[in-house]
Amino acid sequence: TPVTGEQRQQPNILITGTPGTGKTTLSELAALALSFNHVNVSELVKERELHDGYDAEFDTYILNDDKLCDELEESLGTVAGGNVVDFHSCELFPERWFDLVVVLRTDNTVLYDRLAERGYSQRKITENIECEIMQVVSEEAHDSYKPEVVVELQSDSVEQMEANTEQISAWVAQWHAKRSA
Ligand code: ADP
Ligand code: MN
Repeated sequence: TPVTGEQRQQPNILITGTPGTGKTTLSELAALALSFNHVNVSELVKERELHDGYDAEFDTYILNDDKLCDELEESLGTVAGGNVVDFHSCELFPERWFDLVVVLRTDNTVLYDRLAERGYSQRKITENIECEIMQVVSEEAHDSYKPEVVVELQSDSVEQMEANTEQISAWVAQWHAKRSA
């Protein structure tokens, strides 16, 4: 039977949010602070070719959910746990993989500047700004995971990024404290 949260030695954390909200930056910081493994799903999809080709119109890889989940099961399905997973979507993953789902939120104007700096096309910027305004990822997270698992964190400033790293570390400490109680 598949491993669930009760059996894990360390929790698995998903950091999700609209592109540009700071998932990779926060995931790296949190993984470093916790000595967890950072799994950058977008990079993994490219490296291991967990896709069915490239969609030029939408400037994105066509995700192969089955291939991706099979690959991730190797690390997320273990008793060891201790992964920080970084991806802009969250509904394709089995619920049992994650003990905490962090949804990063960013102010529209701040996000616009970050995406422009990244060299995104106007179309892609607009698409992502709309995604953030419509709270697409937030709704997806609340539809896919139990309310007590989902936490929304603001990610407009470096100060917030540092506070978010600390909050995640504190959450992990709490997770361990609850089990030994
Ligand atoms: P994502 O992985 O969600 O697409 P990144 O982590 O790559 O986002 O961050 C996008 C850009 O915004 C990077 O240049 C990063 O340094 C910056 N950034 C991320 N989070 C913050 C934050 N909380 N405050 C200020 N800048 C941030
Ligand atoms: Mn990223």
